[in-house]
Amino acid sequence: MLIVQKFGGSSVANPDRIVNVAKRVALTRREGHRVVVVVSALGDTTDDLIELSRKVTRNPVEREMDMLMATGEQVSVALLAMAIQELGIPAISFTGAQVGIVTDSSHTRAKIKNISGQRISEQLKRGKVVVVAGFQGMTEDHEITTLGRGGSDLSAVALAVALKAQVCEIYTDVEGVYTTDPRIVPEARKLESVSYDEMLEMASLGAQVMQARSMEVAKKYSIPIHVRSSFSKQPGTIISKEVKSMEDVVVRGVSLAKEEAKVTICDVPDKPGLAAKIFTRISEANINVDTIVQNVSKTGTTDLSFTVGLPDLNKTLTVARKVAREVRAKGVTYDDKIAKVSVVGIGMRSHSGIAAKMFQALAKESINIEMISTSEIKISCVIGKNQAVRAVRALHKAFGLNRLGRKTQLALVR
Ligand code: ADP
Ligand code: ASP
Ligand code: MG
Repeated sequence: MLIVQKFGGSSVANPDRIVNVAKRVALTRREGHRVVVVVSALGDTTDDLIELSRKVTRNPVEREMDMLMATGEQVSVALLAMAIQELGIPAISFTGAQVGIVTDSSHTRAKIKNISGQRISEQLKRGKVVVVAGFQGMTEDHEITTLGRGGSDLSAVALAVALKAQVCEIYTDVEGVYTTDPRIVPEARKLESVSYDEMLEMASLGAQVMQARSMEVAKKYSIPIHVRSSFSKQPGTIISKEVKSMEDVVVRGVSLAKEEAKVTICDVPDKPGLAAKIFTRISEANINVDTIVQNVSKTGTTDLSFTVGLPDLNKTLTVARKVAREVRAKGVTYDDKIAKVSVVGIGMRSHSGIAAKMFQALAKESINIEMISTSEIKISCVIGKNQAVRAVRALHKAFGLNRLGRKTQLALVR
């Protein structure tokens, strides 16, 4: 069997943990499987590198950020390959560029265009464990790129697809995907299985355990993902295609996104085409907008609010202020002390009353809802950041997700 195993930063945070990872890889190899390992930078290295750049400039050129951030993973692949070799197993490390992970040129959030994989296949044929740097690729012009924060998950899934691996195992510091972040709610339960769509929503809405874009690729190619702990042998969570019984659970999980900000363009003239103009400018600056709210106009103008990722706030404000002047809006305000809580589940498609139940749970905690957005399988509310943890705990409990039997859960949500 060909297995892709990805180890996140905390799994390789220090030399002992690197040796621990090497032992796990060796075990899989000794069982006779071919193994490709994708590894992230050691511990908080990527954060530290970003911090370092801030000491030099507040507005780093994104190409140079990629040059800087990609160094993190290069350290881990070399160390891990050495540690595996030390156990008597032939191994070789590669950067993303060396194995032909070709991306577009959107630095710091590049998209993978194709993976040649030939070099990896050659080394696998020679019986080697191949260790590939996660999070990075190369443009057709040989520029180094990175795939967005948490991007090693995407490297692993994309490699698993390109190499036609049977399974992609994501090793991390928790035992799988939980009903909510187990660090926030100790009562959170490990899920045995979760559908691609649910994981995609949970990840996009803040569940860091899997990178959202990696889920799009996994779904497109139906590659099964096994999320599990690098510190225990327990089976984790299988992310797979939806099966009928998954719909029995209405709310699969609660997600929290804290790295968000709300931007409001005030008194925008209420004319056709202005929202199109504003959001075209913002998307041209490569900024992802999330929840959008426009108030009903009584005076011929309207306030337009939307949320963006906190790291994009400065860039967004620059664009928003410029376009606000052009469309003769009054000005731009922002709030960076917001958070978004969401409930997610494919069972919502066939159940009503979930939104009401969510709002009641928040009201009971006296939490004010600033914005609401919904899709077929999720409901999100923007609230004050200082109420975020309380909101997650309340929702987790209200939807019966605390450690209880499945029957009780069903009874509670109906
Ligand atoms: P890695 O370094 O292995 O990539 P991450 O830090 O990116 O690990 O992701 C794992 C973390 O995700 C966990 O430590 C946990 O705090 C957080 N997390 C958030 N939501 C969830 C969830 N629903 N299930 C499991 N973990 C979650
Ligand atoms: N090291 C990168 C990050 O911290 C990629 C990853 O860990 O997946 O975002
Ligand atoms: Mg991660």
